[in-house]
Amino acid sequence: MAIEDDANLTPGGWSDTNRPDTLDRVIETTAQLAAATAERLRCVAQLHREAVRASEEGGAVSRELVERSLRLELSAALRITERAADALLSRADALVNRHPNALEALARGTITERHADLFTDAMDELQPEQRADIEDLALKRAEELATGAYRRWLQRLVDTINAPTLAERHHEALARRGVTVTSDRDGMGTLAVHGPAVEVHAVFDRITRMSKVIGDQDGETRSRDQLRADILFDLLIEGVVTAHPKRARGIRAEVIVTVPALSLLRDSVADAAPATVEGIGPIPIHRARELCGDAKDWMRVLTHPETGVVLSVGRKKYRPPAQLAQLVQWRAERCLAPGCGMPAHRCEIDHSVAWAEGGVTAAWNLDPLCKGHHVIRHHGGWEIRQLEGGVLEWTSPLGRVYLAEPERRTPSFRPATGGGRGGSAWAAASSAMAGESAPF
Ligand SMILES: [Zn+2]
Repeated sequence: MAIEDDANLTPGGWSDTNRPDTLDRVIETTAQLAAATAERLRCVAQLHREAVRASEEGGAVSRELVERSLRLELSAALRITERAADALLSRADALVNRHPNALEALARGTITERHADLFTDAMDELQPEQRADIEDLALKRAEELATGAYRRWLQRLVDTINAPTLAERHHEALARRGVTVTSDRDGMGTLAVHGPAVEVHAVFDRITRMSKVIGDQDGETRSRDQLRADILFDLLIEGVVTAHPKRARGIRAEVIVTVPALSLLRDSVADAAPATVEGIGPIPIHRARELCGDAKDWMRVLTHPETGVVLSVGRKKYRPPAQLAQLVQWRAERCLAPGCGMPAHRCEIDHSVAWAEGGVTAAWNLDPLCKGHHVIRHHGGWEIRQLEGGVLEWTSPLGRVYLAEPERRTPSFRPATGGGRGGSAWAAASSAMAGESAPF
């Protein structure tokens, strides 16, 4: 390679002549590799069929023995481990026998081997009848997305499809919870807890938050990991630890549960997206109901069932999360004082029922107000009330009533006692959900 010798290089390291050609070569050889991989897998599957047929003709040898023999043969011939040979056989079986469309795409070079693996792994998590509906879409996305994005997209798809049976599977898995201890070298040991993901993460969250407080103290030299371990031992051995600084003692775990609003109301969740816990993944909807109903230690996040936009974080956060602030600003487009034209992105977000009076951080209690009108609203003798869809009703010190309407409407989730515009498909859900008395 004589790239360094070329005096005509652009800052990116490409000369005008090699820019398209070399990258084209990389792309081309990548496609050739994919095609060669597809051919190799076809040959492996063929080899498998031939071995099975030969044993059937010879009689008396079990299928398992044939496969073990083939695994040894492949590993010896290719100088790979038997484990790798086994993986090769499984991949050939998956692509040649179960997912020929993916094998075709690989042969054409439109997807890579990694995409093909992600595709077959995801499809094999589903029942055949579930697969049929999404196979084409999943292959099409494999041609468009980078592997990381594709893996996340597939996982979400599989989680959503599997949501209806998640509760059942969780129930079975729950029976296998337990604690194990193993002795390690150098006088060490490992304590492992296997349990429901929400509680496991809550434990980790709490000791992490405590370790931050303790780690910030002057003279503290222990690492975050060392602190987590020490705190865990202190808590489990001592119960209550007065030696911890006061600020670290009151810390509770915070777990963010995201729930599509409608799935909290339905008995049948057949077509509902799963509830998810931030950083953990999907959890059964009945667990989400329990967590949200007893919201003291859990941050409840309600999302719009179609768009996934966050609609409420309840009383856990004064400042709305960015997405919720954006929704509220987008809905109003401008300051929601009567006649004011200040763009919403330059406004502050006001709680219609003030936070101090128990107002929640939710789409049905937030609207943008410019700085001047924000002050007037709180200190100028005006009263405001939010009606359905973010409409603000202003009552002046003289008792006159003005309505400030947002530019756009979004599904409403406010209590049935106010507003009364009705008509929205969400109205029932709204009324049940907006109050503190949730229907679960
Ligand atoms: Zn204003």
